[in-house]
Amino acid sequence: MMTKSNVEFLREAIKNCKRVAVVSHKSPDGDNLGSLLAMALSLEKMGKDVVYVKADIIPEDYEFLPGIEKLETIDDSIDEIDLLMVLDSSDEDRLGENKFLLEKSKIIANIDHHVSNTQFGDINIVLPDLSSTGEILFNILVELEMPIDNIIASLIYVAMSTDTGRFTYQGVTGSTHETVAKLYDYGIDSYSINRSLYQRRSLARTKLFVKAVSQIVFYNNNKIGVVKVSKKMLDETETSMDDTDGIVEFIRDTESVEAACLLKEINESIIKISLRTKNEVDANKVCQAFSGGGHNRASGATVEDSLDNAEKRLVAEINKYL
Ligand code: 5GP
Ligand code: MN
Repeated sequence: MMTKSNVEFLREAIKNCKRVAVVSHKSPDGDNLGSLLAMALSLEKMGKDVVYVKADIIPEDYEFLPGIEKLETIDDSIDEIDLLMVLDSSDEDRLGENKFLLEKSKIIANIDHHVSNTQFGDINIVLPDLSSTGEILFNILVELEMPIDNIIASLIYVAMSTDTGRFTYQGVTGSTHETVAKLYDYGIDSYSINRSLYQRRSLARTKLFVKAVSQIVFYNNNKIGVVKVSKKMLDETETSMDDTDGIVEFIRDTESVEAACLLKEINESIIKISLRTKNEVDANKVCQAFSGGGHNRASGATVEDSLDNAEKRLVAEINKYL
């Protein structure tokens, strides 16, 4: 909760820290990167020594984000950190190889909006009712009177737009739009940001999309739609797993579909699941059955199995709710 005490603890922690690291989760998305860069740039403007921690390969989509070049891969030889800000990450495992940072940091601030968040921080600002970590962050920056400029506001817009499906998801409220309206006060150019975000798909990605989606299968009266992306498909289209963005949303947008599943073959025995649901299925519950999690309408998990077996297990789990 954004309780007075949590926000005040964060204010104190920021005031007293010299060296702060900002990190988010592996397989970074727009909310994750936009929030991370916005917070890190604001802290830097306050004169803090900021480590921008790179959690994973940056998808091409987000290479245009201002400050992205500051992200660095770190290892456990890094000096002690006064304050670690973990953004948009529901649990410690989401940090992947950067999990060691939790031991290296005197204070951990956990700022997130996942319903499955485990409250692993010393300071926890977890607001599942807010659309995105970006929206939480804007409130924090305002509340703590931290610097916000055009670039920071643009990054928050990226976080909010990408995590709300361009402002269409259930978590979007009047206050989401009020926050966006305030971003315009900093002179953001939403048309230009939207073109950078949504109108730059590579031809290779379009070809992967067509190939993958052409093999869609439906189960349970077309209520479950599944697309599997094999390594072979990536080779044939000269793409990578990052290029699967947008496929699961496309499946979901079919009228009959209640649960949209994308299964990504990381290797022969590791499959990454992306799940999107409408009304009848709690995506977070389904993914928790596979040790994953996320939100009620959008969740993920990783399973150790073959592509076909993972599909069978996932469909069986979803069928429990349909
Ligand atoms: P995506 O399907 O886009 O990878 O992720 C959808 C949502 O589920 C995101 O909010 C993401 O943070 C969360 N998520 C994805 N994979 C995992 C996972 O393996 N574990 C947990 N706890 N959350 C995940
Ligand atoms: Mn998010």
